Amino acid sequence: MAKPGGAQLPHSLRRIALAVLALSAFTLQAASPFESPDPAHVPFHPDTVLRVTFLDVGQGDAVLLQAPEGQTALIDAGRGDIVPLLREMGVTRIDLLLATHPHADHIGGMTGVLESIPVRFFMDNGDPHSTATYRRLLAALDARPEITYLEAVPRTISLGSATLEVLPLLPRGTAEPNDRSVTVVVRYGGFSALLSGDSEVRQLTHLAGLGVVPEVTLLKAPHHGSDNGFTWDFLRLARPRLVVISVGRNSYGHPRPAALSAYAETARETWRTDLHGHVQVLGRADGGYAVVLGDEVIAGGGRIVVHSGTGRHDGERYYMGQRRAVWNNDGDTATLYDAEGTAVVVFSY
Ligand SMILES: [Zn+2]
Repeated sequence: MAKPGGAQLPHSLRRIALAVLALSAFTLQAASPFESPDPAHVPFHPDTVLRVTFLDVGQGDAVLLQAPEGQTALIDAGRGDIVPLLREMGVTRIDLLLATHPHADHIGGMTGVLESIPVRFFMDNGDPHSTATYRRLLAALDARPEITYLEAVPRTISLGSATLEVLPLLPRGTAEPNDRSVTVVVRYGGFSALLSGDSEVRQLTHLAGLGVVPEVTLLKAPHHGSDNGFTWDFLRLARPRLVVISVGRNSYGHPRPAALSAYAETARETWRTDLHGHVQVLGRADGGYAVVLGDEVIAGGGRIVVHSGTGRHDGERYYMGQRRAVWNNDGDTATLYDAEGTAVVVFSY
């Protein structure tokens, strides 16, 4: 039975975020998921951070980038309809929609996005694909002639004060679709993230060989944490401080134990969308970051009850033990922030 712990919201708060942190077996080496041990100093003001949100779309990828100035990029869109989720996240337009490669777990949700949300630029690797999902995406693009097409050749794109550097691909026709995943390095001041779709050993080796793999703050585990989604050379170059695995129920055994232990050895912390839901990394210009899980925004005057068990959020009740019990749990913390990013309630158990 869930034990409720209550927090009544002061009426003056306009915007509240609830961050639920779950420590799991493979993140125990991290003293705290926050860079700063004092939650009161976690930066949460939207004007000062680059938000990189790994949406929980089951087995697939959908990574939302929100620049401090409000510009938005969506890299992949999962398999199903993610429009309601994007609306919930406050997305009203997308400056850059990027398809890493034309597999359904990356582009399935893109048609719905193109039909519902204004998009300025669309980028992919230019490779045709034979599936009905891909044909639907092309039809949706054809119906939006105002969208500017960009091919994924090496270039740097501005997203407000953040930049996206597109890394070189293996030549067309020389690699399987996964190994032609559009790979970008996102930078905001001293914070950086490497996102590379479903790259496997061949592409990761190619990138390492070209000398274009930078040391980064954040790595999206290539190919959903598959054991062909990392090489030691690649990890030694990227040296990520945290890794996020976008993964759901699947028959491939993702994430694989070899990948999990490689990430545990390389990075301070690893987060997974299948265990933690949406994983949001707030990158600061000074290179620091904070991780927010299960971010919820509560209307002013609202009431919130935090349960320590599992259950479904209903807008008033929130559950800290989402998804499943975590083995060897060290306890969880729910933090309530006001619009300025100051922690007003910290609830631990
Ligand atoms: Zn995939």
